[in-house]
Amino acid sequence: MSNVPNSLEEYWMPFTFNRAFKAQPNLVMAADGMYYTSTDGRQVLDAISGLWCVNAGHRHPKIAEAITRQLDELDFASSFNVGHPKPFEFAAQLVGMAPAGLDYVFFTNSGSEAVDTALKIALAYHYMRGDGARTRLIGQERAYHGVGFGGISVGGMVKNRMYYGSLLSGVDHLPHTHNLEKNAFSRGEPEWGAHLADGLEDLVALYDASTIAAVIVEPVAGSTGVLVPPKGYLQRLREICDRHGILLIFDEVITGFGRTGASFAAERFDVKPDMMTCAKGMTNGVLPCGGCLVSSEIYDAFMNRLEPGIELFHGYTYSGHPLAAAAGLATLEVYREEGLFERAQEMSAYWEEVVHGLKGLPHVIDIRNIGLVAGVELESRTGAPTKRAIDVFQQCFDRGLLIRTTGDTLAFSPPLIIEREQIDFTFELVADALKIVE
Ligand code: PLP
Repeated sequence: MSNVPNSLEEYWMPFTFNRAFKAQPNLVMAADGMYYTSTDGRQVLDAISGLWCVNAGHRHPKIAEAITRQLDELDFASSFNVGHPKPFEFAAQLVGMAPAGLDYVFFTNSGSEAVDTALKIALAYHYMRGDGARTRLIGQERAYHGVGFGGISVGGMVKNRMYYGSLLSGVDHLPHTHNLEKNAFSRGEPEWGAHLADGLEDLVALYDASTIAAVIVEPVAGSTGVLVPPKGYLQRLREICDRHGILLIFDEVITGFGRTGASFAAERFDVKPDMMTCAKGMTNGVLPCGGCLVSSEIYDAFMNRLEPGIELFHGYTYSGHPLAAAAGLATLEVYREEGLFERAQEMSAYWEEVVHGLKGLPHVIDIRNIGLVAGVELESRTGAPTKRAIDVFQQCFDRGLLIRTTGDTLAFSPPLIIEREQIDFTFELVADALKIVE
């Protein structure tokens, strides 16, 4: 019996060249630890944690058990006025793991929803404080903040924006920090570029701080090809935000839960945002879940209002879903028990060494890394951007390795349980592919 579905036609796949996929489907049907099993029965090493999700590896028994137990007890209850224990317990554990001062969490189902939640809280926060003229939101070129209208408005990826009308008004963008001339083949944080944070001062000069609500950035941009922030860049953004009463939001949807070798990038870079979004690794990818963590100052602004009634007119049917909360609780326990964030940090030196070993191979014009993340940028084929990276992807998949491509950058973000031999395997296969593709 074939493991391939009878028809691939009806499912409109997200962020996928559907016609190409359906002509040559790369299908997986099972997973365990570091590996997928493809429908033709091959083991495929997962070098991207599914999609930056399964930081503790696939099908962790402890997480599976927690979900089953929860399902036996309570399948669903709303969080609109009816509470149930698990999301409260999960919230306490989550904020306990986050940088001090981010003491409250609003649950969502995805990173996109977490981002839109953060933007709405930022606007409502200023309104609550009688500072309602602060309506402007600042994003960054080359940023990805999911696919909601808020997220694509502050995001900086042209194809994600260009088809969807005028988007949110009152949005502007900081310059991105990617610069091959200055920073190619940097290890960890590049030396050059902290001054680009001064772009925020330029926007303050243009619009006046009294109209700016918040700035949102990815501490490490993932979807536009692993862009590690220049040394001092995030600190400088923090200082400028403080100077002008602007909220700073870190979108930690991919950088959270050990990816950079610390619980969150905020900890790794020692910069505390006012809000932080997360998802993906929050439940080890097992069930959809996201969150927006906020500072006490923000939470208190809502809770200390004199008028009785709902403090924030926002929420999702599945906010704090019992199964997601149970999965999240078990996931955080696994991260702690197995010391996975520390492990990521320990393994990151070896990871860096091996990935930078690709320097000098055909097509490679930059290599970037931090924690257990890496990006290998290839020179684009003339007149056919992205195609070379896609060919490398296919070569790798056919030979037992799942990687990700964004533009002409190959991206790597393996489960934090990866072993040295698997790191070797990953980059040996990529090296072979680079020698084969045109
Ligand atoms: N923000 C960042 C930084 C992301 O990388 C992503 C997804 O990759 C999102 C937001 C959106 O998350 P989701 O796909 O769960 O909506």
